[in-house]
Amino acid sequence: MIESRCGLLCSACPYREQTGCTGCVSIQKPFWGERCPVKSCAEDKKYAHCGQCEAFPCRLLNQFAYDETQGDGGMRIEQCRHWKGLEK
Ligand code: SF4
Ligand code: SF4
Repeated sequence: MIESRCGLLCSACPYREQTGCTGCVSIQKPFWGERCPVKSCAEDKKYAHCGQCEAFPCRLLNQFAYDETQGDGGMRIEQCRHWKGLEK
């Protein structure tokens, strides 16, 4: 079961309880802004997660994954690869 479009593990997110967020795939918009460009991009293309995209891992996803303050050193990209592998 995937947890987000970008590969983030929402179940391990420290903001989940604080904000009452139910997780990327079940929300319309993230608690941190009007829209998440990664979530919108994947959903517009009808992908369950970015790993299904032919452009994966695109520049936008890399920006999110390797952002100095908000990023996770690329872990979410690896997570998308893992989810993609489970689909085969
Ligand atoms: S950053 Fe965007 S795509 Fe990733 S979990 Fe948050 S809302 Fe979803
Ligand atoms: S990999 Fe990039 S282009 Fe593909 S769905 Fe994700 S954000 Fe969009």
